[in-house]
Amino acid sequence: MIVNKLRRKLPLEDWEITVVDQDDHHHYQPGYLFLPFGTYRRDQVVRSRHAFLPDGVDFVVGEIDKVVAEANQVVLVDGRELAYDYLVIATGTTPRPDQTEGMLGEQWRRSVFDFYTLEGSEALAEALRTFDHGRLVVHITDLPIKCPVAPLEFTFLAEAWLRRRGLRDRVEMVYVTPLDGAFTKPIASAHLGSLLEERKIHVEPDFLVERVDNERKMLVSYDEREIPFDLLVTIPLNMGADFVARSGLGDDLNYVRVDKHTLLSTKYDNIFAVGDASDIPASKAGSVAHFAVEIFVDNFLEHIEGRPMTGSFDGHANCFIESGDGKGLLIDFNYDTEPLPGKFPIPRVGPLDLLKETRANHLGKMAFRHVYWNVLLPGRPLPLPAHMSMAGKVPAASAKKEG
Ligand SMILES: Cc1cc2nc3c(=O)[nH]c(=O)nc-3n(C[C@H](O)[C@H](O)[C@H](O)COP(=O)(O)OP(=O)(O)OC[C@H]3O[C@@H](n4cnc5c(N)ncnc54)[C@H](O)[C@@H]3O)c2cc1C
Repeated sequence: MIVNKLRRKLPLEDWEITVVDQDDHHHYQPGYLFLPFGTYRRDQVVRSRHAFLPDGVDFVVGEIDKVVAEANQVVLVDGRELAYDYLVIATGTTPRPDQTEGMLGEQWRRSVFDFYTLEGSEALAEALRTFDHGRLVVHITDLPIKCPVAPLEFTFLAEAWLRRRGLRDRVEMVYVTPLDGAFTKPIASAHLGSLLEERKIHVEPDFLVERVDNERKMLVSYDEREIPFDLLVTIPLNMGADFVARSGLGDDLNYVRVDKHTLLSTKYDNIFAVGDASDIPASKAGSVAHFAVEIFVDNFLEHIEGRPMTGSFDGHANCFIESGDGKGLLIDFNYDTEPLPGKFPIPRVGPLDLLKETRANHLGKMAFRHVYWNVLLPGRPLPLPAHMSMAGKVPAASAKKEG
């Protein structure tokens, strides 16, 4: 998105733009949620990066080893050195099962799965095909994770899928979370928690996993609670890229420290971090990256001309939540405002309902894959405001009364 937008604005004779990535396969990660249930195939969620890069952009395939910020240099693992005047870090966040004792043990991809990687999601599809009874445990190791609603969506889809196959009575479902409820934000948490309750899914809150016991097929917490499983679907700890730590740019989880309104590094005034790679206190979500890019591009053009950046990112997130049976919810929020009920995007009209299960929200989620490939990545404008709007939302006090 950034290079597609910037290439149109920065004259070719003055500006070279280089994109570095470790491979040439761009993944539509929200699609991983649907692979276990056979809704999508691999070729619908993976495309060549080349296809999305405009003319006049160099594409370097290579793994980044470190950034030497004092020398304005990116060093690749194979030794290549790339000089820059300005650097935008957008290396995302990655599931790290290696960070939890026993997670990568002998049960990994036998009865312990993740769906946050393409391979994990495909392996889980295989496992679900033969799973017909027992305890299905969905587990979040720790936060932040990308798309914090995805584990709930997986749980709802799995419940509906088991019901459709006549297996629901033979499967006990447990949702294990380090949070004190279904979600991070109180009003949405109450809504989503009641959906879990309706579907007879037991919630195990405040669970901080210490290890996975492969022999006994148990999750064991630091306070010595034990959760047995027949099939464990875990979201491993998510971490930013290791090179961020090696370059002295990150926090404890390798997220690049930036100003949350401008995305400019707190240490270097020629380094920005956009998307999941940054430490901004917003959801790690594609929608957040998209809205942030809208603000970033204009700010960047001001910054390189030595003018103050006038755009201020508000942490805007907008996420569809699949709830099974062809329905979904939609939430829209930012740094200061939690998800509230109401209508979106047109006040009082919608057509989408916020925090309410509807068919239209599910259709919106399914349509999004096309929007992603054809509008967002090519950097075309999407008629949605980058800043969150209160128009159409029911304010918190009345939302609580209704709730
Ligand atoms: C199961 C699932 C469901 C999701 N559902 C939704 C949803 O419904 N809505 C939503 O808004 N978001 C959703 N997301 C989150 C969304 O996919 C991410 O927030 C988004 O992709 C972040 O974009 P990014 O550009 O910051 O990082 P990424 O898309 O992760 O890109 C990071 C890039 O950096 C590259 N890279 C990393 N390290 C290196 C290195 N050392 N050297 C070279 N290259 C490197 C990687 O190869 C990758 O191409 C979901 C994610 C998952 C996993």
